[in-house]
Amino acid sequence: MTYRAEYLWVDGTHPTPEVRSKTRILSDDQEPEIWGFDGSSTGQATGRDSDVALQPVFQCPDPIRGGNDILVLSETLLTSDLSPHPTNMRALTREVYDKYKDQEPLLGLEQEYTLLETLTGWPAGFPQGGFPPPQGPYYCGVGAVKIHGRDLIERHTTACIGAGLAISGTNAEVMPGQWEFQIGPLDPVTTADHVWVARYILFRLAEEHGVEVSIDPKPMRGDWNGAGMHTNFSTKSMRESWDPIIAACEALGRPDRLEEHLAGYGEGIEHRLTGEHETQRYDVYTWGISDRGASVRIPWQVNRDRKGYIEDRRPNANADPYNLTRLLTNTVCEALA
Ligand code: ADP
Ligand code: MN
Ligand code: MN
Ligand code: MN
Repeated sequence: MTYRAEYLWVDGTHPTPEVRSKTRILSDDQEPEIWGFDGSSTGQATGRDSDVALQPVFQCPDPIRGGNDILVLSETLLTSDLSPHPTNMRALTREVYDKYKDQEPLLGLEQEYTLLETLTGWPAGFPQGGFPPPQGPYYCGVGAVKIHGRDLIERHTTACIGAGLAISGTNAEVMPGQWEFQIGPLDPVTTADHVWVARYILFRLAEEHGVEVSIDPKPMRGDWNGAGMHTNFSTKSMRESWDPIIAACEALGRPDRLEEHLAGYGEGIEHRLTGEHETQRYDVYTWGISDRGASVRIPWQVNRDRKGYIEDRRPNANADPYNLTRLLTNTVCEALA
């Protein structure tokens, strides 16, 4: 008997990496082992030296195929010496996590996205070539005029649960056709692994629903909300007391770190973080309690309990989650060490 292993990996598409996959049929007595692909077709190699290796690092049941079939998330390695490929951001995140493991960092990511009609490229719920009534009723709304694509969102959630991913919630967003799912809280590597697999499942299921999932941070210019990936962060000491919460907010505002953080927060951040639609302008850093106009927010329950976590609201929906979990862990854990 055989089963199918769908190998997933993060490609070299610049500036926004995407998930790729291909199928390997294995006999029941075989484990998914190291494999490879044509890197010259994914922005990861030249045609003359095209092979890139795939090292399985995380696997889960394939909730779409079912049965014994599995998804196999893999790191990309150079075939010359099996060291991490330059586009392999997971390897960097592993290093930072190893360094600060004793602080027990946990991250929860809020992946926002927009459903686009495949035929028109226009957001689901927008009349063809036109615009719906202004934002207001759509966020967490209910009803067929306000809400578009819920059948897909429900299938996706069921599939993520079936795969054993740490999906922790979903909601309809501020712009019609825009949605969010949350993953975590888990350690920096595992959270990002789960986000990539959850993205794959979403894109894959959407093929059957006549829509394309877009993680464009600003799919509609003008008075329409962009799509972000708020990144919630805590360490053991933040989950136990208040002072490290404040120290974390201040660490994230270190002027010598702002550029590195923004560079890892996804392409086109200046289009989304204009200061007009929630969240501070990209080039100004502020933090505050319950403040959705700030760069970093302390949730109200955290202020009440005097312990918990903080939310960095700046990252774009199109960021590589490995970059987000690495940057937050590195900057905050270094400050708290
Ligand atoms: P909101 O939309 O109000 O910003 P969400 O409910 O969408 O909040 O997301 C909250 C996120 O915070 C979830 O992804 C959850 O996993 C994460 N989270 C909860 N507790 C912690 C914690 N202690 N450390 C890190 N992340 C956390
Ligand atoms: Mn949210
Ligand atoms: Mn949201
Ligand atoms: Mn949020």
